[in-house]
Amino acid sequence: MSDTSQLLVRRIKDGTVIDHIEAGKALFVLHALSITGKEGNVITVALNVPSSKHIKKDIIKVENRFLKTNETNKLALISLHTTINIIKDYKLVEKRKIQLPDSIVGIFKCPNLRCVSNGEEGIKPIIDIIKKENIILRCRYCTRTLTTGELVF
Ligand SMILES: [Zn+2]
Repeated sequence: MSDTSQLLVRRIKDGTVIDHIEAGKALFVLHALSITGKEGNVITVALNVPSSKHIKKDIIKVENRFLKTNETNKLALISLHTTINIIKDYKLVEKRKIQLPDSIVGIFKCPNLRCVSNGEEGIKPIIDIIKKENIILRCRYCTRTLTTGELVF
């Protein structure tokens, strides 16, 4: 590893390292996890880091927070091949892959402007994942089927 990479992936004592995020998607990941920085813990975001596979990736380190599986699975539609590393006392205690959940609540909006989830306040959009291979999605309210490219943040 080069000196630059070592600096970027500097070890943290406790927290979560979100690695192998598709380059350019880190800010969507922060949004999906509702991480704003106001929580007060140290958050490091690295964009376009050269990866060993000669492709670029983004990395996010969230110190002193252990992201749960139901939180990180929300990232499936943003960057499915992301890996989650849970670090405790400088040791990697859990490494997990993201799994596609059955539904995602409150992150993506339905692209149908007439959908009730866009019109009424207090309704959280719910996107169901109805097919996990060649991902097909459906809005639970208006039942419109969608691809990941049609999702609106
Ligand atoms: Zn809808």
